[in-house]
Amino acid sequence: MFAEHRSARFRPAVAAALLAVALVPAAPSVGRADTVQEEMSATERVVAELEESPVHVDPSYASAFPEELAQEMGQRITESGVPLRVLAVPLIEGGDWNGQADLMAAAVHDRIGGEGHYLVLDGERLSGHDFSTGSATQVSRGFYASQAVSMEMGYDAPVAERVERAVEVALSDDPEGIYTAADEQRRTGVSDWYYSLGPGTYALFTVLPWVLAGLALLGLGVALFRWRRPRRAPSLPQHAAFDNANQARRDELADRAGRELVEVGERVGAAVPAADDPTAVEALHQALDAHAAARRVYDGLPEEGALADIAGVLVLLDAAEDHINRAVRPSGRRRSTPVRSHCYANPLHGTVTKMTRWREFGGRGDVTVPLCAPCAGAVRDRRRPTVLPARHRGREVPYYEVPAEESVWAATGYGTLRKDLVDRILRGDHEAGPR
Ligand SMILES: [Zn+2]
Repeated sequence: MFAEHRSARFRPAVAAALLAVALVPAAPSVGRADTVQEEMSATERVVAELEESPVHVDPSYASAFPEELAQEMGQRITESGVPLRVLAVPLIEGGDWNGQADLMAAAVHDRIGGEGHYLVLDGERLSGHDFSTGSATQVSRGFYASQAVSMEMGYDAPVAERVERAVEVALSDDPEGIYTAADEQRRTGVSDWYYSLGPGTYALFTVLPWVLAGLALLGLGVALFRWRRPRRAPSLPQHAAFDNANQARRDELADRAGRELVEVGERVGAAVPAADDPTAVEALHQALDAHAAARRVYDGLPEEGALADIAGVLVLLDAAEDHINRAVRPSGRRRSTPVRSHCYANPLHGTVTKMTRWREFGGRGDVTVPLCAPCAGAVRDRRRPTVLPARHRGREVPYYEVPAEESVWAATGYGTLRKDLVDRILRGDHEAGPR
């Protein structure tokens, strides 16, 4: 879509019409003409708004996105000289631009031309769209900004905060660098579908079709999973799933834990806390403690098994990263780097989670815990999510069913139920329980 758009030579109005026609090939001709009319006028409205300010907020966002904030943001963008535009518009499938953010950005940009970077907020989704004038040196500011924010803040932070941060990244000197740093943060304990993209992701981002695929996967990942999960065949009995998970991934995860332990250790060692800031010093201490706890668990790993412990190492390294990040940031920006919560059912699902009520959990009533989108979907459909296995008295059970006094992971839900996971490990609780 971007590639086609970039090379478009025809006039904008024609382009918009073609776009609309392509979208509704099966519609009767009268309906098609109406749709074209609507799309053009909706696009024109947005373009007219953008002439006043680079930030266009639909009235339906007034409470989530206060006017003063939009003005302040618009001023910052104008002063920066970067052709960045922010569109907060609710998109409805079958409505204007067929409810697709990239189509809206393309249609709007057709009227404006030149280099352009767009951040589109649609409901909870923030996406970035970039249009260049052909010069290879132009940075995909919108794309990197929206992706960095998804990785840094997940999907639960207030939309205004996410857009504010995205604007900050997009206007920065190095949006790609911020994105890369956020991506490195995310790598540990990443969920399976993210992980399957692999380290080649960077290279793929230079290929435009993959940028779209990336947007769809990363930006709309949560929605995608919600849509897909209920259609899957009922999951296999959990014990089989456990065995496979163990055999296939144990060594790979152990290697990764070892590598990342060294890398995070180097970063903690090199981190300099923000000057004259006791909170930053405290955060660095927490990073050191979390890393020390990870080291302690890792050094005690047996030759085989112990997937729950390996997962624990990765979770602790994520915590260490979060604390480093907090320590080195100026205090004003610290609230945008929260300590992330892993999926309670299986921390290897990553940190893109949402607090979710899990009913009749293990026959012990409800818990409200952070769950990743697939696990939250499973819970909603009354299925058990793919939980992390642990060995207990010769059997494989969900890790949280191991008695709390025998497992720091069960006792704390990998830090999601209780915040003293690091303290417990450093005082030796982990070694105390039978393994
Ligand atoms: Zn999960």
